[in-house]
Order: sequence, then C-alpha cells, then structure tokens
Amino acid sequence: MYIVQIASECAPVIKAGGLGDVVYGLSREVEERGHCVEIILPKYNNMRYDHIWGLHDAYRDLWVPWYGGSVHCSVFCGWVHGRLCFFIEPHSEDFFFDRGVYYGCDDDVMRFAFFSKAALEFLLKSNKRPNVIHCHDWQTGLIPVMLYEMYQYHGMDNQRVLYTIHNFKHQGFAGSEVLWATGLNRESYYFQYDQLRDNFNPFSLNFMKGGIVYANHINTVSPHHAWEAMHGDAGFGLGHTLHLKSFKFSGILNGIDYATWNPEEDPHIPYDYGISTFEDKALNKKALQEKLLLRACDKPILAFIGRLDDQKGVQLVHHAMYFALSRGAQFVLLGSATDSVINDWFWHEKRYLNENPDIHLELSFNEELAHLIYAGADMMVVPSKFEPCGLTQLISLRYGTVPIVRGVGGLYSTVFDWDYDNEHSREERTGFVFYDSDNYAVESAMNRAIDLYYNEPKLFQQLAMQGMQYDYSWKQSGEEYIKMYSQIRHQ
Ligand code: ADP
Repeated sequence: MYIVQIASECAPVIKAGGLGDVVYGLSREVEERGHCVEIILPKYNNMRYDHIWGLHDAYRDLWVPWYGGSVHCSVFCGWVHGRLCFFIEPHSEDFFFDRGVYYGCDDDVMRFAFFSKAALEFLLKSNKRPNVIHCHDWQTGLIPVMLYEMYQYHGMDNQRVLYTIHNFKHQGFAGSEVLWATGLNRESYYFQYDQLRDNFNPFSLNFMKGGIVYANHINTVSPHHAWEAMHGDAGFGLGHTLHLKSFKFSGILNGIDYATWNPEEDPHIPYDYGISTFEDKALNKKALQEKLLLRACDKPILAFIGRLDDQKGVQLVHHAMYFALSRGAQFVLLGSATDSVINDWFWHEKRYLNENPDIHLELSFNEELAHLIYAGADMMVVPSKFEPCGLTQLISLRYGTVPIVRGVGGLYSTVFDWDYDNEHSREERTGFVFYDSDNYAVESAMNRAIDLYYNEPKLFQQLAMQGMQYDYSWKQSGEEYIKMYSQIRHQ
C-alpha cells in the first residue's frame, strides 16, 4: 500500500508532544512492513533542521488557490531518520510557518487550513495518488472535507482517509472566512449541524467535526479513550457526533518507537542498560544528579516530563513536587507551557526553589535531557486530567522508571497498580494508579511508591523490571493500523 501521512508534527524534526512521536514511529513501522510511506509537513522556520538529511527542493512552483487568487509555495523534500518527508513552504506575506513557534498564533486556524489545502494541492499536482491519506488532529480536519467536496472531482477519487484524533481538547474553530479562503464556499451548506457547524457554538465551524463527518474511518489513540470520548465528557462536545459516527470510530493504542526509546542503545544517556544490567540505571541517576546539580544521594528521584498544561494536571504536578520533597525524595521537572499564567507560575517556583539541592525545574523543551531523565529517575508522575494515550508512561516503563499515574484514558490501560489491580497478578503489575483528581489521591499513590522504594528496595526493583518486560512498541499497533488502511482502501 501507499500511505501519505499529513500532520503538523513529526519527531524529532517537529515535536511539541506525542503527535510527533506517533507520526514518526507509526510511519517507520508501516514502512518496515513493506509499505510505502511519505509524510507531508509544514516547513516551519524553527524546526530541527539538524535532523533532516538531504533537504532539497522537490517541487518549486506549487500554486495553491487561496481566497480569489493563489499563493506561491515551494515543496522541499528530505529524510528524517529514514522517513521521506515533504515540507511545504508558502511564499506569502502571512509568513504562516515563520513564527518561531509551531502553535499558539491568533491565526492558527488559517495557518493549518492553508497547510491542508496546500498538502492536497501538492498531491494533486505531483500526481501522487496514495491508497490512504492518514491525517491527524484538528490541524488536518479539513483534508477529508476538501478531498470529498473538491479534489475527488479533479482526479483524486480513489483516495481514502483515516483521521486520527490525538487530543479532543483542541478542535480548530473558525468562521466562514475559512470557507472562502479554501474555496469550499457554500456557507449555508457547511453551517449545518450534520456538517461542520460546531455542536455548541452556532457561529463556528469545527475542523475536527469536519474530519469526523467526512473521513472513511476515525480513531483515537486508545480504546479506553474512545469509550470515554463517546460516553463521558472527554469528547469536549463531540460525543454526540461520535455516537452518530460510531460505526466508523475506534481506538488503537499508541506504541513508542523502540529504536528511539531504547535504554540498551541510547546515544543520549551515558550508561546503556537493560533488564540484565539493571544496576547500571543507578549510574544514569548519578549522571542526572550531576547534570542538574542535585545533591548526590540515594533518595528516590521522581520526575515529570510533559507540556505544562491544564490537561496534564499542573495543580497536581505542583503539589507532587512539594510532597516529594516533604517525603525525602528528589524531584525533576522538564516541561514547557504555552499558557502565560502557567508559565509565570512555574518560573516563579523555579526561582523560589533555585537553591534547593533536591529539586530541579527545567522549563524548556529538551529532547536530549528527556532521555536522561527517563533513564535516571526512579519514578514518573503522570497526574493528567485526561490522557488519550500518554507516551511518558510507556517510555518510563521501557526505561524501568516506575509510573505513578491517574487512571484515565491510555494511562488506565497501560499501568497496573502494584497493590490493588484485580486483573493482573503481582508479577504483571507495573506501577501505581490513583483515580481522583485531588491532592490526597496523588499523595496516597506517591506514599505507596516511596514507601516501597525505602522499605522494600528489592520489590521496588522487581516492579521496575516488570514494567520493562512489556512490549509497547509499534509492533501490534502498527499491525492494527495496517489492517485499518487495507479495510478502508476498498471502501
Ligand atoms: P502530549 O502528546 O499530550 O503532549 P504524550 O505523553 O502523548 O503527551 O507525549 C509527550 C511526548 O513529548 C513524550 O515523548 C515526552 O517525552 C515529550 N515531551 C513533553 N514535554 C517535553 C519537554 N519539555 N522536553 C522534551 N520532551 C518533552
């Protein structure tokens, strides 16, 4: 099969969170199973150019219809750790992708509506006719809409779309201007409830809803979260639409790329280790303490890695930091915030705690440091309010770092509580799980984890090694995606 991924991220060249990891890891797996995969991305000025090999212009004069005229674009091509990627660069005064950031601009909906249009125009003009277009999240929600309303009449009538939702919280709201810009026009048609009209704001079009209505199949990134989105409030207002489309909606658990995340062969950590050499993990702990100027000691290191966002339970992360210190543990936080209030808050904490030798707050995005923290920490705290899949706990398991998670979404499906899990035997359990979203809940799970570390070090090590034995690579999930691709290509 010939698959084209269209997305706003692909790790490590463009990565804000798990979406980037998934686009890269899944593409690699699908390709290794003998299929052809290409990835179309925006050409951001702040992406990691050092991760692209052989970047050259592949299509110089792509004219993308936009409002009444057209925008001149160049399409570049290069390999990102073996994956063939196309990067679209518009030459317009909007400077859509020259903002120094991936997201967070006032005109994000127009930026990604343009990207979606340009990606389809590129496929059309370069005569690329994939069996399946796999697009991701709100940024590409208009792709199936434009494919079925416009491009199929220009010769792209054999293409099918799989639309993967990684996060229901961000849906992409726009007014009618987006219809005039993309050439979809027909305001009264698209502003219907069975079309793109938002279920709760009658004056808004909803990109993600468009993706759900038009794609041949939709999935989110864990079966449990698919259930939560349809039956709880995790669909952020799209639950009803998902119900109507439940015949084409499912959940497929994410994997992680085992070549990128492999403690036995990780260029970013000083001491490689595996299950049989687990004692070498302690050397990485020492290296982490040294690098972050933490006190060298045997206290457990608890860590948090992630976007500092309401979704990630920042209040609980904050509480966990202080609670860890009060329990005689060390804490390392690596995170960045787009919200200025949260950003100011954590900068304040960083300055306040600056002299404390048992805690370090690194407020940036730092892929290399993330590897060292996964390897050097003893436990990873993931107190998310909601979590479609979550990769931090999967990476932690791989690195023998015991996850302490809130039991929602993919966290619920992948971490099994050491004390209380009914469905898994002691030998199959992997971490600590709490359910309520309050300080007491996170404290009780942290207490159990820290007590085990101090009182039963052998059992704690056994627990960490049990987590390492699980296979959360793309092997199984990749197979499920391939099944899905071949199912929809014949529709
Ligand atoms: P989300 O996609 O909601 O951000 P996930 O848990 O699915 O969360 O994926 C997060 C990914 O981003 C992981 O690979 C994690 O290591 C990485 N990550 C998050 N924040 C940072 C950061 N500040 N620096 C480095 N890596 C980060």
